[in-house]
Amino acid sequence: GGFRATVLTLYPEMFPGPLGVSLAGKALVDGAWSLETVQIRDFTTDKHRMVDDTPAGGGAGMVMKADVLARAVDHVSGGHVADGRPKLYMTPRGKTLTQARVRELAAGPGAIMLCGRFEGVDERLIEARNFEEISIGDYILSGGETAAIVILDAIVRLLPGVMGNIMSGETESFETGLLEHPHYTKPQEWEGRRIPDVLLSGNHGAIDKWRRSEAEQLTKERRPDLWQAHRASLKK
Ligand code: SAM
Repeated sequence: GGFRATVLTLYPEMFPGPLGVSLAGKALVDGAWSLETVQIRDFTTDKHRMVDDTPAGGGAGMVMKADVLARAVDHVSGGHVADGRPKLYMTPRGKTLTQARVRELAAGPGAIMLCGRFEGVDERLIEARNFEEISIGDYILSGGETAAIVILDAIVRLLPGVMGNIMSGETESFETGLLEHPHYTKPQEWEGRRIPDVLLSGNHGAIDKWRRSEAEQLTKERRPDLWQAHRASLKK
């Protein structure tokens, strides 16, 4: 049991990194998930151990080689026989990660994650090994490792037993299609700012209503795209 993550990278020393502490780190020790890193360079066959080469057609930068990457992928996935885990390539050209996709991944057996460096990987590798292309947002990172860490962080906190009762996932931003309501804690007054009275009223009906209305207001203001989708889903 447990979610099995395999990360193909030129920098295995970046793992578990932030995934080794707090909830994710404890879940790793407890066996709720496992993490294997694979050094791509170990799958070179030439004496210079080259993982990249110059781009066909010219231009700046280097491209990671399809043959080397394929040997690394096949080594961990048992060749063309799929081991049931999706193969994910971290790339700004991919579909932007959503909480819905994170939930699907967390419900599955694990993931094989390929971290690019330089200009990225030879396109034929993505096609031939059926990689799903995933982006974590519209900006360029220097490598796929930090993207893989972000994705695993989002997955691991959803695994059974990991969050426990520490947080209730259900009202969290995106889970309801809305951004979450604001939070407050003691003291009641701080720097002249008071916690909204309704939250101290003990009236749970009124509190729920207030939170709902705050969430809607925030979403309307900050994320018109989410708000529209939310409205459309209510009409169905
Ligand atoms: N030349 C590529 C492009 O323009 O699409 C960018 C290459 S980037 C410098 C190097 C590697 O970082 C990529 O191969 C990818 O693995 C990773 N990466 C960069 N930005 C990312 C993002 N927003 N999401 C996921 N991975 C990203």
